[in-house]
Amino acid sequence: MLIEENIIIKPNNHSINHYRNLGYDAKCRIELNIKTSELTKSSNIKVNCICDNCKKITNIKYQDYIRTIEKSQKYFCKDCAILLIKETKKLRYNDENYNNRTKFNVTMMKLYGILIPLKNLKIKAKKENTCIEKYGFKNASENENIKLKIKNSIIQKYKNDKISILLKRKFTNIKLYNKESYSQTTDYKIKSEITCLKKYNYKHNGEVPELILKRKNTKLKNSKINHNEFYLYKRQVLNISRKNVKILFENWNGMDFYDNEYIKLNFSHKPNSAEYPTIDHKISILYGFKNKMSPIEIGDISNLCVTKKKINSSKKDKCFF
Ligand SMILES: [Zn+2]
Repeated sequence: MLIEENIIIKPNNHSINHYRNLGYDAKCRIELNIKTSELTKSSNIKVNCICDNCKKITNIKYQDYIRTIEKSQKYFCKDCAILLIKETKKLRYNDENYNNRTKFNVTMMKLYGILIPLKNLKIKAKKENTCIEKYGFKNASENENIKLKIKNSIIQKYKNDKISILLKRKFTNIKLYNKESYSQTTDYKIKSEITCLKKYNYKHNGEVPELILKRKNTKLKNSKINHNEFYLYKRQVLNISRKNVKILFENWNGMDFYDNEYIKLNFSHKPNSAEYPTIDHKISILYGFKNKMSPIEIGDISNLCVTKKKINSSKKDKCFF
């Protein structure tokens, strides 16, 4: 519903006749007080409306307001619009989630000659070019500004609801499938195996060579370090560290540096055992590389310690300070 009954506008060449026909003494670019509901349907003047559902007040273009009113005789704000859509669908089709797939498919075929437009290489290239022009990347979401914007809007939108949404999802899944997540159900497992077999001739995505390679490449692409440079840096560090190993063990008290467990006797385990004593860089090699620290500093005996293999491998690029 519109809040202000009247509004002051300045008619232009296009709209002046509309207001004259309604009986106003309209003059071009001269302020005119009219009834808000008599604005032209295409007017982009912003008006205050009250949501018929949650009673929130929003300031939107009149053309957007009138579009929803003409469709459903109600004005619902952005947040409530989804409810209105569901209500209308329920009324028309007796199913609040109704979607006319056949009509959708016919439209897509008519417009693009294909069901999924992005599978058409020409359309895909066009979309990518637009994105490159606008954001500098094939996908807008690769742009740091956009990433931040998406992140902020998600935080803003769900900051209060995050936990309740997760809980609601869990409850629904338990009610429907007796599991916290649909992916834990046998039904899902069977379905995904069938799809995978059909698509790749393997039961699981994790076994498909082309997907393994793809994941590996994505990981490489996403990690911001230069691998050749890192390899050389690591080799330098290890060369220095190697010279210190003998002295390190000679002066070692037998304790795990991180949890103070006595592990000298663990050399009796197999070398690939999680309990086997290993040498660790307190400041990790990767951290040193990323922060441009000298290999001498990272390889130095003061940065070396002894710990169990399992602690060493769980540390990855984390550091102990
Ligand atoms: Zn609302």
